Amino acid sequence: MSGNSVQFDYRPNSTPVPVAEREALLASPGFGRVFTDHMAVINYTEGQGWHDARIEARAPIQVDPASAVLHYAQEVFEGMKAYQSGNGAVLFRPDANARRFNGSASRLSMPDLPEALFLESVRRLVDVDRAWVPSQPGGSLYLRPFMFANEVFLGVKPSAEYLYMVIASPVGSYFKGAGGPVSVWISQNDTRAAMGGTGAAKCGGNYAASLRAQAEAIRNGCDQTLFLDATERRWVEELGGMNIFFVFEDGSLSTPPLDGTILPGITRDSLITIARAQGMTVREEAYSIDQWKSDAASGRLRETFACGTAAVVAPIGRVASPEGSFTIGNPEVGGEVTMRLRAALVDIQLGNAPDPYGWVQ
Ligand code: PMP
Repeated sequence: MSGNSVQFDYRPNSTPVPVAEREALLASPGFGRVFTDHMAVINYTEGQGWHDARIEARAPIQVDPASAVLHYAQEVFEGMKAYQSGNGAVLFRPDANARRFNGSASRLSMPDLPEALFLESVRRLVDVDRAWVPSQPGGSLYLRPFMFANEVFLGVKPSAEYLYMVIASPVGSYFKGAGGPVSVWISQNDTRAAMGGTGAAKCGGNYAASLRAQAEAIRNGCDQTLFLDATERRWVEELGGMNIFFVFEDGSLSTPPLDGTILPGITRDSLITIARAQGMTVREEAYSIDQWKSDAASGRLRETFACGTAAVVAPIGRVASPEGSFTIGNPEVGGEVTMRLRAALVDIQLGNAPDPYGWVQ
């Protein structure tokens, strides 16, 4: 099956969630616990390629106990959102997700999924389940495309069979009490990714390895973990699920470079583009934790924010570690530049502003 001749078999769910129940779920969906009526599925078999693309009722799947993914974690995924705009449900830069998905797959020795198949699977699912796209402010339909090794074999080698699926979950805001600054905990012991590792891939294993540090963050009263580089434990890399930006008193921005250890965020890329279009200087350069602390104290650093699909843009007000904590700007409210960039991005996503980059589909 090539990307150009995509045939999706549609097998409607014969027992969809009743309308009243769906509306009740959509009123307060939370994050990642409510799911739509359908899912997209495509099989891959070595020698045959991708086959049996279908949209079918969302349901548990049977996986053999010797399925490769359960043992060697050969799995990659994506995270993206469909928004309710004036013109119906829209996707934000889905082609960028398709490309990153294949980048992740390549790192994990998994087959390339033609971009057209990725896009079609997501579009079909959103179309079939469009009644599940929340229309309240801040709501969206979170889409989770993923692929895993499914060969029944205990040898350590790239699997000969894969399953690609897309599930969808209506969501509200990612953080409780959304909008206000979040706090981050600097993980001292655990790192997320080393040079040559899988840091730039969106694979499940990266997240499994981040859970201990995230639990440490919560124990210490922080919202998210901030990871430092694995070599010197000195350079700021990214959060467990978001990239990071610094805003300086001269109005310039900086963000850690994509050197292979951090995930190339699509929100990150979009904000760099928007900031430069607004005339701001954006540097992609390494920034050390010591510099961060002293710049926050001197006032040279005005704001810091995290960004990602789930939370879009979240101001960071406080940074804590076993050595103590420091605050940035007014830790109770998001900084002016942070909130302006957030508004500019959200306006494009929701169709409230022109889309000069053709990001919204
Ligand atoms: N870093 C990590 C580790 C992430 O999981 C995510 C979320 N995908 C991001 C950054 C932000 O990426 P994006 O803006 O594409 O959501």
